[in-house]
Amino acid sequence: MGALPHVDTSSSATNGANGGSRTIKSWAPATGDLLGEVRVSTKEEVFAAVARARKAQAAWGVLPVEERCERLLRLRDALVERADEIVDVVSRECGKPRHDCLSHEVMITVDLLTYYCKNAPRILAGHDIGLHLLKHKKSSLHYAPRGVIGVISPWNFPFVIPMGDVVAALVAGNAVVLKPSEVTPLSIQKAKEIFDGTGLPEDLFTVVYGYGEAGQALIESGIQKLVFTGGVETGKRVAAACGANLVPCVMELGGKAPLIACADCDVDRTARAIVFGGFVNAGQVCISVERVYAHESIHDDLVARVKELTGALRQGDPQGDATVDVGAIIFPKQIEIAERHIEDAVAKGATVLIGGKRRAGPGQFFEPTVLTGCDHTMTVMKQEIFGPIVPIQKVGSEDEAIRLANDSHLGLNAYVFTKNREKGKRIAQRVEAGSVCVNDVLLNYAAAEAPFGGIKQSGFGRVHGEEALRDMCDARHVFSGRVPEPAADPLWFPYSNKAYRWQMRMLRAVFSRGSIVKRIGKLF
Ligand code: NDP
Repeated sequence: MGALPHVDTSSSATNGANGGSRTIKSWAPATGDLLGEVRVSTKEEVFAAVARARKAQAAWGVLPVEERCERLLRLRDALVERADEIVDVVSRECGKPRHDCLSHEVMITVDLLTYYCKNAPRILAGHDIGLHLLKHKKSSLHYAPRGVIGVISPWNFPFVIPMGDVVAALVAGNAVVLKPSEVTPLSIQKAKEIFDGTGLPEDLFTVVYGYGEAGQALIESGIQKLVFTGGVETGKRVAAACGANLVPCVMELGGKAPLIACADCDVDRTARAIVFGGFVNAGQVCISVERVYAHESIHDDLVARVKELTGALRQGDPQGDATVDVGAIIFPKQIEIAERHIEDAVAKGATVLIGGKRRAGPGQFFEPTVLTGCDHTMTVMKQEIFGPIVPIQKVGSEDEAIRLANDSHLGLNAYVFTKNREKGKRIAQRVEAGSVCVNDVLLNYAAAEAPFGGIKQSGFGRVHGEEALRDMCDARHVFSGRVPEPAADPLWFPYSNKAYRWQMRMLRAVFSRGSIVKRIGKLF
């Protein structure tokens, strides 16, 4: 089997016309089998979906948060009940092991939904804000649903990434219109089928299918917020389109996660973490271990152990074989990117320790690959790989490792390995990334309470945690009095010289260092 038709994302023609309406075909990367197809939504259909969502949201958003959560737990129950069906479709559509689908796609979605349903009444409760200057006034905040939230999602985690955003939006009282990647439409079609079986209002969660144009239409459709997950270059275009339409957005973009292996790391655990973190989902993870900086004192031992563990990985079609560790590559372009990285690195002096080649078909597979002797002149250490390659660079000190880890335009996740946990935390604080794990890889994404997202060109805004749930709402400020208001407010018209002098006295009394008011009132 050669190139699969659905993977030529540059040409919609490969997906065929069907009676005037285009369709997207979904192909199994591990076998080349045709799995199904969906119809591309027109711009008018995207707009109509958003209009229907708005109507559904009007009734949903006024329900007490407790009632919304109670109803959404039906979705949680259905996801648990039908977990095997989700695993089937995601595993086939992505060519990823069933273990990955269960633990990463289903479990995390279900846990996020549980966390939000349990905590939303507290997180979204209105609260007073103490005012330090305007003591005679009272402020309170309340969180109102924004309206319709748009979600645009990638193919590498086609269930958990969009569904995490969907459940947060729904719990907060919004409706959602989602455009999944054209490469993995069936995974989200399954989510929609399960949602519709729960009795929740159908138009609260709508899926539109298509390419970039469908995403563009969604941004122009009048949504109140967009959560985008995808590559940096697409993210720049999407953020510009959001800017042009004044749509607030969250940008979850690419990563180049460094792993710092300190001199005092547990070599065996570090090696296992590198192999898991670098090759799970065939390296097609935004927080994959994308580069390793190994202290010279443990470098050789670490490299030897990484080679041994990599050699023991079982790769193949995961269908019907729960022992497959590493599955397929989603489309040929990703294999070509991997090959270009290796070619460039080898030309500049790196060594292919193990792997390095694509495997013969059927399906699309690339051997888990470890490169040694790497440095920052190589693209493999600087640009996102998004494939099963782990490049390793030897460093002379932890300071050098931190400097190199920060020598990147990306900053999503990072990893530090040391037996000294306190030192690990200190190093973590010096690494420029949205999240840093000490002695672990990837697992921070499963911490429902913790915000997830990038700095630098890895994006802005956060998913998960309290911050993301509140950000699905408009924080609205109500400002009122504590005491009866006088008819003539001293700050209002008419202005006078006397009022000006009074203000000046107030300014000095309150803000001058050592002023009597400050000392007595402890205002500031
Ligand atoms: P892309 O950026 O190619 O696509 C992401 C989504 O955007 C797809 O649904 C895509 O549709 C859509 N899209 C493409 N062009 C436009 C446009 N002009 N307007 C609106 N929408 C558009 O990313 P991939 O799907 O290839 O995913 C891989 C990338 O995602 C990697 O860089 C990875 O690091 C990143 N990622 C980031 C994560 C994070 O949380 N920070 C998590 C997972 C992945 P279509 O598929 O039809 O082109």
